[in-house]
Amino acid sequence: MNKIELNLEKISTIAKQKERENIAFRTFLKMQDEEKIDTIVHSLHKKITAQIDCRKCANCCSRMSAGVTVTDIRKLAALENISAAEFEQRFLELDKSVGITYLKDVPCRYLKDKSCSIYKDRPEDCKSYPHTQKNDFTSRIYGVIGNCEICPIVFNLYEQLKQELQYHSRRKKR
Ligand code: SF4
Ligand code: SF4
Repeated sequence: MNKIELNLEKISTIAKQKERENIAFRTFLKMQDEEKIDTIVHSLHKKITAQIDCRKCANCCSRMSAGVTVTDIRKLAALENISAAEFEQRFLELDKSVGITYLKDVPCRYLKDKSCSIYKDRPEDCKSYPHTQKNDFTSRIYGVIGNCEICPIVFNLYEQLKQELQYHSRRKKR
């Protein structure tokens, strides 16, 4: 495995430059065996997360909005000492195009000095971000491509996946 990239500015720049390549790689991944890809992705996820300390990054909490479930909303409203309806009105936003409700403040209102101030009670979406430990990677690649620009785990994983599958040399042969 190559050295991983941790510089957030560099990651953002390279991910933008590689957008077309990343979309083409998605097409390639769609033609592969889904289970085989999940196995490789899970192994890369373990290796890469072992080398990254999220407490020194917090880029997802600084640049993205977390999705919330009804259970999350109840829990967060209780923490704020207000009703779920008031919490919804003050702190949430519904994205009608995808039917998902998000915490509207970016950076997240619970981010304090690169740490989550409600860590134990954080939304399920936060707990599972960046989702590379889940199955069905090939069904979520557009989301992965968007996250390449933000999350060092995702950026490095997608790049390493190209190498594992010898994507560049296979393309040259065509
Ligand atoms: S709730 Fe915590 S983990 Fe989730 S986005 Fe906000 S600061 Fe980050
Ligand atoms: S999940 Fe990704 S973006 Fe979020 S803190 Fe960890 S490395 Fe950074």
